[in-house]
Amino acid sequence: MYSKVHLKKNKDAAVRRNHPWIFSGAIQRKDKDLKDGDIVEVFTYDDQYLATGYFQDNTIAIRILSFVKCDIDFSFWLETIGRAFQLRQRLDLTENKATNAYRLMHAEGDNVSGLIIDIYNNTAVIQCHSIGIHQRIDIIAKALKEVLGDKISVIYDKSKGTLPKNYGQSMENKYLLGENPANTVLENNQIFKIDWEKGQKTGFFLDQRDNRQLLAELTKDNTVLNTFCYSGGFSIYALAAGASLVHSVDVSKTAIELTNQNVALNNFEEKHESFAMDVLTFLKQSEMEYDIVVVDPPAYAKSIKARHNAVQGYKRLNKEAFKKVKSGGLMFTFSCSQVVDRVLFYNTILAAALESKRNIKVLHHLSQPADHPVNIFHPESSYLKGLVLYVE
Ligand code: SAH
Repeated sequence: MYSKVHLKKNKDAAVRRNHPWIFSGAIQRKDKDLKDGDIVEVFTYDDQYLATGYFQDNTIAIRILSFVKCDIDFSFWLETIGRAFQLRQRLDLTENKATNAYRLMHAEGDNVSGLIIDIYNNTAVIQCHSIGIHQRIDIIAKALKEVLGDKISVIYDKSKGTLPKNYGQSMENKYLLGENPANTVLENNQIFKIDWEKGQKTGFFLDQRDNRQLLAELTKDNTVLNTFCYSGGFSIYALAAGASLVHSVDVSKTAIELTNQNVALNNFEEKHESFAMDVLTFLKQSEMEYDIVVVDPPAYAKSIKARHNAVQGYKRLNKEAFKKVKSGGLMFTFSCSQVVDRVLFYNTILAAALESKRNIKVLHHLSQPADHPVNIFHPESSYLKGLVLYVE
């Protein structure tokens, strides 16, 4: 028997539209001893069942796992991860000769708020963003192994940094299965070394796979500036596609080391140079102009409160970046802030374009790849947006 939560009258509309979040303000009554991570059944004020989810004492108080009554047990996880795997099979990612790194579970996009699972060759990296998911990581890992079978031999839990501080402090990232993993992957036939232990996120930015491929198609004999390069994703694709010179910039020394390793792994050292420094400083100091400039900053806004400043930040950054694009060149510019939506991002780039006094044309609207699906009932799962611009 799970604990019960009753919503206030007229606060059930979002749940009835299959939105997976219940805000604390919608709750009329709940058990007094409800603890973070507990599974709860959600009811209307007049006791009609709505959904089953897990509780965390926060603004988003309940994250729904199912809209039909069920037990959140091993077979629930088996079925849920199985459905996510089936989608990746449909996308031809599970037996792909050119790409063996993909996202298997994309949180709400795969109907489990708080759970990310990325596959790197034969390693699965699990990243939990909530207590309710982390408390169940062993059963999730067991179901994951059962669904993927021989395809994975290593499972790593990398949740320390993404869980609430008071809970995450007392735990360590660790291997749940296997050891000595192979840590190189193929993405569209490019080799990358992935460091899930020391790297950012789960180790790699899988969400730029399709956009890197598009860049490759436009890069032959071009000079490229890849800002916020992390492990050099865009740089490697550009070099492989015949770029004449690539400059990679990231403020993190670890990121630059990863970039250098990946450049070396692919034997592209001659045409590549990296700079461990702040991007705005680089843009202001450097006198070079490039055929292509990539601008892929981290999320400037993590909340609505931070949105205004973030927009000002994107504008300043893009205005400086436009100055580095040769006439007739291209700019690939991105935002991964969930709270900066597509329209706001477009208008921000428009403002930067106006201030740059260049003539600019929109060639492509970019987003996240299909293994980062958007749950149609949860528009917030759409977070990555980008534009390819022609700069005259
Ligand atoms: N384009 C990358 C992902 C970028 S993630 C890829 O395809 O893999 C954002 C990166 O920006 C991180 O590596 C972070 O270290 C870097 N970063 C954050 N603030 C920065 C700053 N002010 N100057 C330079 N790099 C920065």
